[in-house]
Amino acid sequence: MSGVTNTAAFRPSARVARIRESPSTLAANRVRELRAAGTPIIDLTIGEPDFDTPRNVKDAGIAAIEAGRTKYTAVNGTPELRAAIRARMLRASGIEFDDASIAVGGGGKQVIYMAFAATLDPGDEVIVPSPYWVSYPDMVLANDGTPVIVDTAEATGFKLTPEALRAAITPRTRWVVVNAPGNPTGAVYTRAEIEGLVEVLEAFPDVWVLADEIYDEIGFTGRPFVPFVAAAGRVRDRVLTVNGVSKSYAMTGWRLGYGVGAPGLVRAINILQSQSSSCPSSVSQAAAVVALTGDQSFITESVARYRSRRDLAVDRFGEIDGLRPIVPDGGFYVFVDCSGLIGRRTAGGTVLTSDQDVTMWLLDEARVAVIQGAAYGSDAFFRTSIATSEEQIEAGARAIAEAVATLA
Ligand code: PMP
Repeated sequence: MSGVTNTAAFRPSARVARIRESPSTLAANRVRELRAAGTPIIDLTIGEPDFDTPRNVKDAGIAAIEAGRTKYTAVNGTPELRAAIRARMLRASGIEFDDASIAVGGGGKQVIYMAFAATLDPGDEVIVPSPYWVSYPDMVLANDGTPVIVDTAEATGFKLTPEALRAAITPRTRWVVVNAPGNPTGAVYTRAEIEGLVEVLEAFPDVWVLADEIYDEIGFTGRPFVPFVAAAGRVRDRVLTVNGVSKSYAMTGWRLGYGVGAPGLVRAINILQSQSSSCPSSVSQAAAVVALTGDQSFITESVARYRSRRDLAVDRFGEIDGLRPIVPDGGFYVFVDCSGLIGRRTAGGTVLTSDQDVTMWLLDEARVAVIQGAAYGSDAFFRTSIATSEEQIEAGARAIAEAVATLA
């Protein structure tokens, strides 16, 4: 590479100084570097479908380009996109939302970020049940808030209980994050479990719910998914449902997500959007309309694949001495308890003292990349992905089993 070396002394803002780069991004970079250096790696860190975007959706994107639909749209998306989101929300929740309730962004991630930016002042608290998706605490911190991490237990399926919620609420609480199906555990709340949380929230009118349901279509229980808002009763107006097309339709790179909730909040998000990116990509919006309203067979087919991969991963990891996979009800990750490896001695003579050690050792010894539980606020676990082929899952489990067999 050529170029001039820039030696400017850079001073980041306090906002940036208090957050870290996403551990998933770091893991992906590490895999890329090792592969570039010629080391074959079995990558089980992947947080996006390995399937291609469905043909009809790609065609809609191409048609939008050809038809010149390549200009700015309204801040809150094209009327067609808003209609598609309203129809999807009606189908999923039975609730009819109006246009003023819909915000769109460059992925669900950006919508969550804007929701925090639109609501948090210094010292405001956001309850984040752990294990959590890596980005929530940092997004809260970046927007001057304080994440309040509430540990959940395996005994409650890694779900927030009414008691734990009640105990975490303070006069500064603005939000509680409820992510289902959850990343990384795959936890899905039943209607009764949502109602238990709602009962607590009824007494706290200033606490809102950020229901991140980006994996809602990917479920393995055979029961229909219950969106939080559909069971929210009297707190319904305080729920922001976040969703998008990334996971359900294998459209991660198209960057299109949405939030559905109170018009006042949506207006604030739209103001931020108008001053930051104006609108999400017009081409992606056109493709998302077809994803949301067109033939849905891609979902049925991909979920069947995820289900058999889940079963395979749970079986194979479960057979390995010292590992105990948590069976996910949805999403595309398997969270694995690796406490049985901690304290064991490697062939090189070092003792594995943490999930971080286990993860690094697996990368070195088994050439398998997984992400340490600590990144999700949960020690002694690692996260594997089933958004990869059966062969990769088999090969990964085999390599891990062989490496584990060398531990003393
Ligand atoms: N929420 C969760 C729980 C996720 O895992 C992700 C993607 N990793 C997102 C939101 C964001 O997805 P996107 O921005 O692609 O819509």
